[in-house]
Amino acid sequence: MIKKSSRLDNVFYEIRGPIFEKAMDLERQGFKITRLNIGNPAPFGFDAPDEIVHDIIMNLRNAQGYTDSKGLFAARKAIMHYCQSKAIQNVQVDDIIIGNGVSELILLSMQALLNEGDEILVPAPDYPLWTAAVNLSGGKAVHYLCDEAADWYPDVADMESKITSRTKGIVLINPNNPTGAVYPPEVLRQVVAVAERHNLIVFSDEIYDKILYEGTVHHATASFSTDVLFLTFGGLSKNYRAAGFRAGWLVVSGKLSTAKSYIEGLNALASMRLCSNVPAQFAIQTALGGYQSINDLVLPTGRLAKQRDACYNKLVSIPGITCVKPMGAFYLFPKIDVQKFNIHRDEQFVLDLLIDQHVLLVQGTGFNWAQQDHFRVVYLPTIVELDETLDKLALFLQDYQQQ
Ligand code: PLP
Repeated sequence: MIKKSSRLDNVFYEIRGPIFEKAMDLERQGFKITRLNIGNPAPFGFDAPDEIVHDIIMNLRNAQGYTDSKGLFAARKAIMHYCQSKAIQNVQVDDIIIGNGVSELILLSMQALLNEGDEILVPAPDYPLWTAAVNLSGGKAVHYLCDEAADWYPDVADMESKITSRTKGIVLINPNNPTGAVYPPEVLRQVVAVAERHNLIVFSDEIYDKILYEGTVHHATASFSTDVLFLTFGGLSKNYRAAGFRAGWLVVSGKLSTAKSYIEGLNALASMRLCSNVPAQFAIQTALGGYQSINDLVLPTGRLAKQRDACYNKLVSIPGITCVKPMGAFYLFPKIDVQKFNIHRDEQFVLDLLIDQHVLLVQGTGFNWAQQDHFRVVYLPTIVELDETLDKLALFLQDYQQQ
């Protein structure tokens, strides 16, 4: 019997978990499954900007060898300039590591830091890779609440009350997956003040920082202080719809003076995986310096914004469902009336819907939400498809009672 490592005991990623497997099974049997489960824009017709693709093709011959382990100089210069435009101070080329998507860098940032039992404050709900990466690295993910009644902003008092002598850092996901919340400066200032008081690192996942609706402005957490160590994460997967290219970055900024050893650890791990996918690195400078077509998609007349509105309006018209309107990213995290439908296991609800209507969602507990009363919807499909799919959900709920 060959057993998996016990380090995987507390490592979960439900977005591609057992219910996803069941959906793939149904697809293999010939059923059409509507996938509202994963934030992968390109298959829904959200193409990456042409100039990025062109740049990769043009540079393919130059992309055969390894690069510097932190990434191409020109790409990191472009990221450095982007940090400057977002008021993150004093970022140097050497403070930037390019990775195979933000995913790789989340893992790297935790592996380089944590000793057995060290704690990281992670939001609930969260993008579950954060919790998984902490646990896989021997740490303990401690969840602080994001408050649905306060537009899903972090409950800073709850966050601070969970700090112990083992706490090393705070994760912020802004704009948030799965809630779509975008945090205002006053909330970010409060979180930064907590980090400063307790000498904690702030890990700010800002991968959706250009996907903003109704004139919402995004503020980089690291722009609020130079007295806290910040790791800011960004990439091409969402803003530039190029998830398959696998290009992301992490930027270390702020109080570097006390973090020499941790930075050595980050650099060592970056070196050990040699470098990230080189063709995709060539796309970064063109993406950041080129035409920002995402801005058109999020205008009130843009495809993403229209889908958000249609999906939100339809969802909240279903009896038993309420939802906070998202201001960023492309997810909704509705609440379902568990009493009305006798829901005691959200995973079962999502599975029942899949089997009955061939609609694939992800249950709220998959995002480390403790109650059984939420699910996540991805609104990347067209309005016609979203409409049809949510009609199926409404029909399913008409007489649903969980066994
Ligand atoms: N962070 C958040 C909040 C995400 O939602 C995702 C992907 O869905 C990632 C990171 C991973 O992105 P990447 O494609 O850069 O690995």
